[in-house]
Formats: sequence, structure tokens, C-alpha cells
Amino acid sequence: MRRLNVALAERSYPILIGSDLLQNAENLPPYLQGPRVAVISNTTVAPLYLDTLLATLEKVGVGVTPIILPDGEKFKNWESLNAIYDALLAARCDRGTTLIALGGGVIGDLAGFAAATYQRGVPFIQIPTTLLSQVDSSVGGKTGINHPRGKNMVGAFWQPKLVVADTLTLRSLPARELSAGLAEVIKYGLVRDLPFLEWLESNMDRLVAGDDEALAYAIERSCRNKAEVVANDEFETAKEGGRALLNLGHTFGHAIESGMGYGHWLHGEAVAAGTVMAAELSRRLGWLSAADVDRVRNLLQRAGLPVCGPMLGAERYLEFMSNDKKVSAGRLRLVLLQSIGTAVTTSDATREDILATLTACCH
Ligand code: NAD
Ligand code: MG
Repeated sequence: MRRLNVALAERSYPILIGSDLLQNAENLPPYLQGPRVAVISNTTVAPLYLDTLLATLEKVGVGVTPIILPDGEKFKNWESLNAIYDALLAARCDRGTTLIALGGGVIGDLAGFAAATYQRGVPFIQIPTTLLSQVDSSVGGKTGINHPRGKNMVGAFWQPKLVVADTLTLRSLPARELSAGLAEVIKYGLVRDLPFLEWLESNMDRLVAGDDEALAYAIERSCRNKAEVVANDEFETAKEGGRALLNLGHTFGHAIESGMGYGHWLHGEAVAAGTVMAAELSRRLGWLSAADVDRVRNLLQRAGLPVCGPMLGAERYLEFMSNDKKVSAGRLRLVLLQSIGTAVTTSDATREDILATLTACCH
């Protein structure tokens, strides 16, 4: 088992990574505040892993209330949140009840926000079961739900007490979802960890094939990167650098997601195409070479990800991008690559640079 720490003073917590952790009854008890637990999952993940988790909790004498929600991003909403509160109240769960999220990022975000708000806050454990949630959403304390007017528009920072990433759960994950998670894994290498990027270039085939050891290493290294960034900028308030750097490819990606309608492209797929755009724009600013851009494109392609955006029309892209949060003084503020392995936030790119990039990167 691999173990690392998210260093946030009194809110610090460990991340455990390995195979078959769900079955291991020793992992959880030190992090439970009382004898009651509510497990929040969905109709896809619960049939696969809930029984194993329940058996583990039973072994340590914990009483469990399972709460099973419908599956999908469209259920990351107020109704599902309310269904969680209803179930907690019906079961007379008190402030000592620990909420456990068993599922992907949708369940993690929902359960985390429920934990942040139920009776003014109860302890929370993340058991992420998608690669994306194991390397990204389960770490860092961002929780929340979508509003009809925008994704993740309502939420709270609420750190978990523990994150358990069991690599065995990835065996049932559809290949497309695994690839989507790899987009965020590659992101850490590009943004701040060149040696990891080189490791990914040597080991991408093992990752795509679902090799347990390779996945555990990639998850650990990704979480280590995210944990360092979060430890220095917990609430994303840093003016330069900080958590915002983890948005490489995301402003372009959000334009793809909004332009195509949410659900057509997976988030990781949109980020992959967006990352190629960010690399291409970095080349236009003179920071990357054409060979660097090819390097980025090749690695994403080997991860089974799209490397061209859909033809939305460059002007429409720009409109969607300007609706994104990161506009300052009329110029788009973007995360770009100063070199492979080093990202910066910058407003250097002109409208013309961005339009030319969009035209070059969409087919
Ligand atoms: P998801 O939770 O929708 O999971 C993807 C699909 O895989 C779902 O159908 C799910 O039921 C299924 N699934 C999950 N685990 C499985 C398994 N082991 N085997 C088979 N199927 C499984 O999507 P996601 O990509 O995990 O997360 C996306 C969400 O995460 C978005 O809502 C996004 O906003 C959020 N997010 C949050 C943060 C954060 O910091 N809080 C960061 C990134 C993303
Ligand atoms: Mg992302």
C-alpha cells in the first residue's frame, strides 16, 4: 500500500493507494469519529462494490446507512443533495456520523457538499472509484453541485479525513473513462513534473492496459502533485500560480464541453483537446517548439484521447472561453506552458493568436 499526506495543518489527511483496500478492515476505523456511517453511492457503483465495503465496516462493528443515488452528472443537483439530507435525517444520523463517498467525482462532490452542510458539517471519507476521482476530485476539498445556470456553481471547501484509492475498482471502469482520467494525470506532468511526464511516456501502454502497479504509481505521483499545490493554495486565492495552474487545457476544454452540450465529450476528453490547444498557443508565443507540441499530442493520443477539437467555429469558441471565469481586463487569462513541465498563468496571448490556434487545432 502506498500512503501520502495532504499537509493542511489541522485539516491534514492521508491518501491510501493500493489494490484490494476496500476489503481491508484496518484502514478505516482510525478515521471514523463515531460508530455510525452513511455510505453514499450510485446505481452503477453500489452493485459492484457496496457489499465489500459493508462487510468491511461490519467487521469493525460500524452501523451503516447506505444511500444510493441515480447515476450521472445531471443528478449532481439540489434534488440529490436533498435526498441525502432526507435519508440522513430519517436514519437519525447525528453530527458524529461519518459520510463515505463510494463512486466517481459526481458522488464525491455531492457527498462532500452534504458532509460540509449536514448539521453544519460532519466528517467525510472519499473512496473514489474512477481514475479521474482518484487523481483529482477526491483530493483538495472542493465539493459542490451544479446549478441550471452553471456547473459547480454551489459548493464549499470541505476536506475529507481520509482518501482511499483502491486500484482494483478500476478494473470495471470503461476504457473511455480510464482515458479521461489519464488526461488529468498527463496534466500534472506537463504543468509541474517533467520526470513524471517522462515516466508516463515510457509507461503509457501499461496504464492503458490497466496494469495495477503502473496505475498505483501514476495515482500516487498525481496525488502528490495535487497535494503539494493544494497545500500551498487551499482556497485558490493565489494571484500567481497555485491551484489555477491545474486548469491547463481547461478553458479550451470548457468551451468544447459547453459548445457540444455537456455529456457528449467527457471532461477528460475535452481537457485533452484543450491541452493540445494550450500547447499550440504556447508555441505561437515562442515558448514551445513544434516538436514539443507533437510530444504533447502523441502522449495524449497514446492515452486514447482526442487531440483535435470539434469544429465549433473559432469565434464561437472564443465566446464560450470568455464566459469562463478567467477573464481579466478584456484579455483572456490562460494557463499555458513556458516549457514542457512548467505552466504559467498569462494574459500574453492576443485575440489573433487564440483564433489562429483554434483554427489550427479543430478538424
Ligand atoms: P462520474 O462520477 O460521473 O463517473 C463516471 C462514470 O463511471 C459514472 O457512470 C459512474 O457511475 C461510473 N463508475 C464509477 N466508478 C466505476 C467503476 N469502478 N466501475 C465502473 N463504473 C464506474 O465521473 P468522474 O469523471 O469520476 O467525475 C466527474 C465529476 O467530478 C464532475 O462532476 C466534475 O465536476 C467533478 N470534479 C470535481 C473536482 C473537485 O476538485 N472536486 C475535480 C475534477 C472533477
Ligand atoms: Mg479537470
